[in-house]
Amino acid sequence: MDFTKYIRDVEDFPQKGILFKDITPLLQNPEAMKSAMNGLLKMVEHQKIDKVVGMESRGFFFAPILAMRLNAGFVPVRKSGKLPADKISHTYVLEYGTDTLEMHSDSIQKGDKVLVHDDVLATGGTASATCELIENLGGIVVQCNFLIELDFLKGRNRLRPYKIASLLHY
Ligand code: AMP
Repeated sequence: MDFTKYIRDVEDFPQKGILFKDITPLLQNPEAMKSAMNGLLKMVEHQKIDKVVGMESRGFFFAPILAMRLNAGFVPVRKSGKLPADKISHTYVLEYGTDTLEMHSDSIQKGDKVLVHDDVLATGGTASATCELIENLGGIVVQCNFLIELDFLKGRNRLRPYKIASLLHY
């Protein structure tokens, strides 16, 4: 099943000059969802995963399902001020603006094997800040996995120490 036709390009969102990859049409189609999910799972096959970390907010669509299928726990990484309990934080630069990411201090145990998931890899700022948070808590980043990688932004260079896998490249 070719699910690429369910990814919609939206011009000039959220800022002029950004071509936004909108995955909401894909989320509405169960067959497209299944196909994308199977592709994401295949990329991490035969690797033991303890936690799947998903980034706010579009990383939350697939990461909990991935976690369930991998028999792992799901951990949300959230923007500043959203997590209620004791947390650690990291500020990073995004394709559009800057932001701070936070993670609960007890969400990763020392030595946990972690899969990082987000919908889109753009400049790599979000994913590298997430990896930093995970490593600060003693976790081991096994793979960073994305539905879509925007090759021209070279986010992968920023994530050089890590294994990167993306289902689609633009
Ligand atoms: P970055 O930190 O630059 O790699 O940006 C990745 C984050 O921003 C992800 O959480 C994406 O959801 C979002 N993002 C950045 N650029 C785009 C884009 N062109 N289309 C859709 N989402 C994007």
